[in-house]
Amino acid sequence: MLATNGRLKIAVQRNGRLTDETVAFLRACGLDFEFRSRSLYSPCRNFPLDILAIRDDDIPEYVQDGVADLGIVGQNIIDEKRSRVSAQLPLGFGRCRLMISVPQRSAIRSVKDLRGKRVGTTYPVILRKFLAEAGVEAEIIRLSGSVELAPTLDVADAICDIISTGTTARMNGLKPLLTVLDSEAQLIANRKSLAATRKRTDIDRLLIRARGVLEARGKRYLMMNAPQHAVARLKRIIPSLKSPTVVPLAESNMVAIHSVVAEDVFWDVMENLKKAGASDIIVVPIETIIR
Ligand code: ATP
Ligand code: MG
Repeated sequence: MLATNGRLKIAVQRNGRLTDETVAFLRACGLDFEFRSRSLYSPCRNFPLDILAIRDDDIPEYVQDGVADLGIVGQNIIDEKRSRVSAQLPLGFGRCRLMISVPQRSAIRSVKDLRGKRVGTTYPVILRKFLAEAGVEAEIIRLSGSVELAPTLDVADAICDIISTGTTARMNGLKPLLTVLDSEAQLIANRKSLAATRKRTDIDRLLIRARGVLEARGKRYLMMNAPQHAVARLKRIIPSLKSPTVVPLAESNMVAIHSVVAEDVFWDVMENLKKAGASDIIVVPIETIIR
């Protein structure tokens, strides 16, 4: 029997492609827990939250039915299960694409060419919707795995499957043709839990942390010293330096400049900063940004 002790429950993938990044994300939110993928529950020591480790396919339904208040699962699974949950936050990991692929020498070149053909998939719900929107009638062959073998076995003329690099598809003599869905992991919530005041308070606390962690992703805290007269030039080099913190140094006419910058921007402009007079440039990671 599941405990109803007022603590929040979050359903996460027990053991799979989302697991490591999900656990890392929750830890980045300041949650202290031991994750044991073999035990159903991992309690948080410093937050009223228990982590429920299950198969990813079950997560949307568990959240819909209130077995868990929150869940972290791919958009592909949420859509396929047609679960009634409230989407809260795209998390930026678990990125993949649901695509229709065809054999290298297939005459199928566009979605219209699928008319009357057989398409093998483990995502019949998403595929049906996609074909209906394209106005194409095709036969959907429901498979439960090894979808990429279906054309070779002459079970299907095309497949609709998750692709991350396309290597598996190519190894099986298939070429990706059409994107059906761009997916990433999402934080989802049970609708009733969101309406329940006491739970809502804890969910909101968690969401503030989660947004802060996402906000800090790819950003760095930049500090450098420069002569006072160089400040305007430095601002032109890094556009996000619009309103940096500028602190006078003991040495006359020298200032310290502090600002948040995008990591990729920084590496592109570092040399220009030096040329413009910056020295002692320090870049440090940011754990969270609470706005
Ligand atoms: P489970 O045993 O929990 O049911 P699974 O085998 O169904 O696991 P995984 O292969 O671990 O699922 O993938 C989990 C999710 O990771 C997918 O539903 C998808 O959202 C995401 N994902 C990211 N990249 C890929 C990829 N290259 N292939 C498949 N899924 C990916
Ligand atoms: Mg699964």
